[in-house]
Amino acid sequence: MLMRVIGAILLLAFTCLGVAAARAAAAGSEVVPDGKLPQVATPLAYILDITADPRADRFEGRARIRVRLEQAATRVWLHAQRIDVHQLVASDANGRALKATVQLHGDTGVLEVRFAARVPAQEILLDFRYGAAFNAELQGLYKVRLGDDAYAMTQMEPVSARYAFPAFDEPRFKTPFDISLTVPVADVAVANTRQTGQTKSPDGQWKTLSFATTRPLPTYLVAFAIGPWDVVEAQPIAPNAVRKAPLPLRGIAARGNGAKLDWALQTAAAIVPWFEDYSGQPYPFDKLDLLGAPDFSAGAMENAGLIIYRDAELLIDKQSAAERYRGVFNINAHEIAHQWYGDLVTVPWWDDLWLNEAFATWAQAKATLALHPEYDAELGALEGRQWAMASDSLLSTRKIRQPIDGRGDIETAFDGITYQKGAAVLAMVERWVGEDRFRAGMRAYLAAHAFGSGSSNDLIATLAEHAGKGAALARVMRSFLDQAGVPLVKASLDCADGKATLALAQTRHLPLGVMASTRAQWSVPVCVRFGRGDGSDAQCFLLEQAQQQFAVAGACPDWLLPNADARGYYRFELAPADFARLTAAHARLRAPEQLVLADALDAAFARGSLAPDALLDAMPAFADSGVPQVATALFPRYLWIRRQLAGASTGLALDAWVADLYDARMRGLGWRRQAGEAGTVTALRRRLAHFLATEVRQPAARAALAAQGRAALGLDGSGTVDLARADPDLLDDALKIAVQDGGAPAYAAAQRAFEASRNTAQRYALVAALGASTEPALAARARDFGLTPRVQVGEMNYLYEAQLDEPANRAAAWQWLHAHFDALRERLPPFAQAGLPARFAVGRCSMAAADELAAFFTPRIKDLIGGERGLAQTVERIRQCATLREQLDARPLDEWAAAHRPRQASH
Ligand SMILES: [Zn+2]
Repeated sequence: MLMRVIGAILLLAFTCLGVAAARAAAAGSEVVPDGKLPQVATPLAYILDITADPRADRFEGRARIRVRLEQAATRVWLHAQRIDVHQLVASDANGRALKATVQLHGDTGVLEVRFAARVPAQEILLDFRYGAAFNAELQGLYKVRLGDDAYAMTQMEPVSARYAFPAFDEPRFKTPFDISLTVPVADVAVANTRQTGQTKSPDGQWKTLSFATTRPLPTYLVAFAIGPWDVVEAQPIAPNAVRKAPLPLRGIAARGNGAKLDWALQTAAAIVPWFEDYSGQPYPFDKLDLLGAPDFSAGAMENAGLIIYRDAELLIDKQSAAERYRGVFNINAHEIAHQWYGDLVTVPWWDDLWLNEAFATWAQAKATLALHPEYDAELGALEGRQWAMASDSLLSTRKIRQPIDGRGDIETAFDGITYQKGAAVLAMVERWVGEDRFRAGMRAYLAAHAFGSGSSNDLIATLAEHAGKGAALARVMRSFLDQAGVPLVKASLDCADGKATLALAQTRHLPLGVMASTRAQWSVPVCVRFGRGDGSDAQCFLLEQAQQQFAVAGACPDWLLPNADARGYYRFELAPADFARLTAAHARLRAPEQLVLADALDAAFARGSLAPDALLDAMPAFADSGVPQVATALFPRYLWIRRQLAGASTGLALDAWVADLYDARMRGLGWRRQAGEAGTVTALRRRLAHFLATEVRQPAARAALAAQGRAALGLDGSGTVDLARADPDLLDDALKIAVQDGGAPAYAAAQRAFEASRNTAQRYALVAALGASTEPALAARARDFGLTPRVQVGEMNYLYEAQLDEPANRAAAWQWLHAHFDALRERLPPFAQAGLPARFAVGRCSMAAADELAAFFTPRIKDLIGGERGLAQTVERIRQCATLREQLDARPLDEWAAAHRPRQASH
């Protein structure tokens, strides 16, 4: 699954520690299994018959599950939630009826089948007839209304199949599924596999579609969708060296959107063969459908053969932002990678979830680098890694391979540690063992576990066989998988008699205010770039002790970068003189290495070992870069200094200085995309415009964007809404500023445009603009609007994120939360609940603010799925921010600002 990252906050939560408290309740003599099901029964196959009209409120189903009783039993535990079981017919291996009753255990999602007498070990059949309401929180089988149309679709991962049918809802159970869907004749219905048959009801109102038996799948990969969909048949993907038959490929979107699927289909047709070549395994299923759902809780979901996306992530039209093309490619690469990593080979339990998500994240970057080098996938991966490092620097972080008990642990496992840290560890190991050996190991792992399950231990054993590193491979992997935290590698160089010796030492990187022990040890492959004259070379060393010395090949280097190619999951520290030599050589570094250098500065600042004025002194060296990520790398830390340390007049002086630093570049870029310009130019414009207009609030930048936003909303005299009148890449900010500066008329125009639009991407931009209103009455109206059905569940986050981004709104939004907590929580999908404390923590940076947040959420935390973890991390982040602020001396900053007045007044 790909989570939706908005700003720096995942829609789902950050994480925190912990094993969920035992929440088991007694059922007869046995305990209701809230975590793993007991090893009594194994499902062998399912037949699912679903009758559903998306225009109705409920659907009906029949689930026949063939089950092997592993031992004599009086009961079988499985899962069902908010399902009404009308009838259960159980029968033994000879087809004789078994007397049985069913009981749903509260809202735990556990279903108990109790037999009247002990049943010996054998194969039995459980035949359930049931009904349920379509889910309202985008889980299980849920529905979305679009005007007069209604659509039903599924989202099962991680534990929501139980809303759609009675199920053994755990990833270790992989079985074939036979699915049939009975739907209104005018609707289209699709499922994981190809359609094999169709019959009509006698009254001509319904049709029943049957689909080919699936390959063995876990319940979380089952998918189907019903509604008046547009279906676009693409050219089948041609056979190749590993796949003998053409592969049918289709795009599916809500009525009227079929024409926007072209780019997604083109990218899929390129990505599938790439993974076949890399993995040596043919695409595992009988067809590939890409379906854009009009509302969706995550970014996309890798259902076998039927990938479902939030439609804004899949559709492209002529008004789409340039970065959407790259976005569609990236998300497609991630979900298609999962067809091998996750679907073909599946994790047995959620503690190994990283095998799915880290693999897909790592492989997505790899495919992108191969097929679209201009997308700079290395830089994207690096930004993701640095974001994960921020969580991983906290005491309340979790390990990649964290024990998982209850549902909260399962939902919060989908975090930056699982995705980005996991991918970073794979990339680091790949760099260390070499691409060819790594690929051989990955191929062997997939081949050994195809259509079955694979665990971390399986992967480590298989990789070790091919890596050529002996037992060190396992030590490296385990030290990162089973231990939280980011290593801090201190490097120093000693040259004598023409021979260089490298001394490396490791501790745990800890920002000021994080009260963990620095004494931790990893087995870290440390690759170092050594510069000599005009050239450089990289050498790798395996650091396994607290301190070690290594001989360096070649003459004494002029400078060193202790993270060559930026592949290491660690931060580094150098003596001041070495740091100065490295900074002076920064133009010789590759772009990812420049980003690692910026990260080293930022991390040193967080540890309290780099002063604010020194950080500001470093900014101009990055500002001129043509690489957007590098040119803007120090923005977050600049803003932190500006907001947390600088007094009012120093703050204004700093803003004038930074605006001047970037002003000439921004003017050179202009405020509109030019035909044929490079993607990096567009991306830099978007980043700089956002920084100058919404963060620094430079009047000239705000005026330029406001004019575009007003034109888009028809407030420039035209009277017609036409969002194409704003630059597509600047639309979000242009609308926000137009609404902020335009008062009630602009708010009303944006709301009308929002309610009239069927374009999900534009609706996100419009609803965020409403949320960003800073006039108190309008901001209040926006908060309440987010709770009405006129805002879709998946749109709420855009509204509230924009609302809380504005400092002027935070106090009122906090008061509002007191009165509306229950209403807000009830609308949020399970993923989003753990993120609620973080959402309302934006801008907090004092011990009192941390205490206030904790005092509010602590008594309510049991109502938020995964909330404990989200709250613990949020409170720790606030306290860390507060400690850093208290310990830094702000006075040199005043002197620095006075000495760095811009050459001219800001425009
Ligand atoms: Zn994923």
